[in-house]
Amino acid sequence: MISPQSIDRYADTLPRSVRETVLEGTRVPTIWRREALARDYGNADPLRKLAAQIKQHTLDHLDTYLEKAESRLKANGAEVLFANDAASAKAMVTKLLRENGAKLVVKSKSMLTEEIHLNPHLEENGIEVVETDLGEFIIQIDDDIPSHIIKPIVHKNRRDIAKSFEREGLGDYNDDPETITRRARKHLREKFLKADAGITGANFVSAESGRIVLVTNEGNARFSITAPRLHIVMVGIEKLVPHDRDLAVFLNLLARSGVGQQLTVYTQFINGPRVNPTGGTIDGAEKMVVIFVDNGRSAILGSEYREILRCIRCGACQNVCPVYRQASGHAYRATYQGPIGAVLSPLLMQPDFAKLADLPKASSLCGACNEVCPVDIPIPDMLVRLRDRAFREGATQAKAGTPSMEPWAFLATRPHAWRAAMQAANLANLVPLKLMPVPPLMRWLGSRELPKFRGGEFRSWMKGREPGGSCSAGA
Ligand code: SF4
Repeated sequence: MISPQSIDRYADTLPRSVRETVLEGTRVPTIWRREALARDYGNADPLRKLAAQIKQHTLDHLDTYLEKAESRLKANGAEVLFANDAASAKAMVTKLLRENGAKLVVKSKSMLTEEIHLNPHLEENGIEVVETDLGEFIIQIDDDIPSHIIKPIVHKNRRDIAKSFEREGLGDYNDDPETITRRARKHLREKFLKADAGITGANFVSAESGRIVLVTNEGNARFSITAPRLHIVMVGIEKLVPHDRDLAVFLNLLARSGVGQQLTVYTQFINGPRVNPTGGTIDGAEKMVVIFVDNGRSAILGSEYREILRCIRCGACQNVCPVYRQASGHAYRATYQGPIGAVLSPLLMQPDFAKLADLPKASSLCGACNEVCPVDIPIPDMLVRLRDRAFREGATQAKAGTPSMEPWAFLATRPHAWRAAMQAANLANLVPLKLMPVPPLMRWLGSRELPKFRGGEFRSWMKGREPGGSCSAGA
């Protein structure tokens, strides 16, 4: 469950078994991602840059593309609604379900619906909701929350899942993955057939054709919109791409970045409801409604953090982040976790930015998140800017026990003292640092080795780099 503690405190109390499960669940896709991109592209950077440009262009002209998408979707026979915030989005869904007499809803995975807490709202209104993505289904029966964008149960192992299935009457304890999957399939198929409405998200929406693109590995999105009469698509306004041809760029990057697959098993292009005035659609729901949700995105678009809206929710930055791997997704106390969440979650909390203002501090700023991001989002830069903002707004404070920066500031502003300190630092090589009786240092060095101090001075090093100089001084 969501922790009210700060990330480091939560990480300290995380059971070893959960930490190991998260480590393994993020380590393997990171390797597969690297191998898939290297095998298929050699250097994937040009493709990442192209994806970033397309997304940035879309965001820079979002009003135009939203209008285009709206008129195309309507021409395709879909109804289009716009929701400013979570409350209006939830009210629209409830109204639609009531008007169409829907009592049972099947849902495929959607981070937006997690963000606006749609399920509890529908249940409060007497509507049964069934999550049909296997991971989300397990989250639902456990009354848990997802801890990863694409692997919501990355914090659980198969023994945990087998116990949940046994408790819910889905069969005797059996932790064989195939048995678990077969039991879930049998249970969910009955729900698919009985459901009155299906709710999905959208990975992309083409403004040119109005096509809704859904990617899954389980085919559950397809079932969610095939049997029910009503299909509701809930999508963030940033999910647009200008043209169908742009989808080739994003579909090639999304599955490889997230799980190292060339493509997800199912990629669906939904043209509209069954009765499509522009012709061609002979299956699908009788009625389709697309709800574009803002919920804080326009404010981000108008800020210095707008690049974060390029995110295509691949989860690669979560998989590679050393803090996420140690702390797990629940440590972030938000729908979006890891590096993407450390930027996006506090921004979406407006005007309560302070509640999650500590998240940008949960990073070593190693840059790995930017290196793996398929749309080249400069996450580390944003984290630094958000830390600065949090400090200026008084939203974060130094943690008790954090070493003061004052000694460093004293030396850095006095050149003579700095030079003397550098001379003295050579002596540190003679003393094993682990034996120094400085408690914060002792704890920090408990699991790390510092390199030997090599001396040298920055100014002389720079002089050596000037034309005609040599570059030999140690840094
Ligand atoms: S920020 Fe980049 S790497 Fe992280 S989930 Fe979004 S697209 Fe993927």
